[in-house]
Amino acid sequence: MRMSTLKKKREEEEPPSSLSLDNANGSDSQSEEGSKREDDSLRYEQARDQRIKDNMERMHKLGLFDLSLKLKHPKRNYLPKKKKAVQPNHSPQRRSSRIMNLVPINYSERNRESASKENGVVEICIPEGTNPEVYTEEHEEHLGDCESAWELYVDGYDEDGNRIYDPIKGETCHQCRQKTLGQHTHCNKCELLQGKFCGDCLYMRYGENVMEANRNNKWVCPPCRGICNCSRCRRGKGWRPTGNIYSKVSKLGFKSVAHYLIKTRGTELEGSDAENSVAEEKSETSADTKLNRPTLTRASKKRA
Ligand SMILES: [Zn+2]
Ligand SMILES: [Zn+2]
Ligand SMILES: [Zn+2]
Repeated sequence: MRMSTLKKKREEEEPPSSLSLDNANGSDSQSEEGSKREDDSLRYEQARDQRIKDNMERMHKLGLFDLSLKLKHPKRNYLPKKKKAVQPNHSPQRRSSRIMNLVPINYSERNRESASKENGVVEICIPEGTNPEVYTEEHEEHLGDCESAWELYVDGYDEDGNRIYDPIKGETCHQCRQKTLGQHTHCNKCELLQGKFCGDCLYMRYGENVMEANRNNKWVCPPCRGICNCSRCRRGKGWRPTGNIYSKVSKLGFKSVAHYLIKTRGTELEGSDAENSVAEEKSETSADTKLNRPTLTRASKKRA
């Protein structure tokens, strides 16, 4: 009975708010199957239920179901979902066939999500904003790179590993908004404060090395390139902040948050293409780097 398992898992992940709409006190007759069997639309829904069920079974038999999970994985993060509100839900099962039919295509994706939680697989949830977050080839071309890895949590930190905040000598990073010691970038295009990024932010969020950026007199800041993923710039585009997802995207094989966002949400990237790009990214070497500095180890381990 894999279907019933699927439905159950899917319902467990529905936000409580939508649950209450349909089955707040159990008295809503529309929420119970079979209460209006003479109703044409209900018969239609039941027929649709059956069709979906049949299709799912067919997919299982053909092995297409597992395949579809793999193919859909990279795109699922920008599908319309209320993931932020998801809470473990152990209340009685909702049985509304109407709701079941609203998003039948998401069965497999939701199932994959709950499966990934069970398996400890990395899952990234960015709340949906007011505008769709989609990227073009141009964005991808503006992604940066680095010759050598940047060692995180060292530059601008004291011996105990605490960040050194300095209101006078420090520089404010456009990304983390902290006024700290340590190296910061300088944009050769805008020459503005928005072009200042600390080494850690530049590496984690854009996959670039601040030392290399500062030796490149053509280096241009992420805001000037239109790929800034700081919370303020994202809000300006109608997108929600990503939160600290570097360790997650790194586990998925992406060089930086920007690489993850742009490579998984590009308009022309579909399914396996996006997955392939991860593999390529792992092995690709920088095309435009001129420096040959010793590779720092702590951060580079994550890129292996
Ligand atoms: Zn920063
Ligand atoms: Zn700039
Ligand atoms: Zn920004």
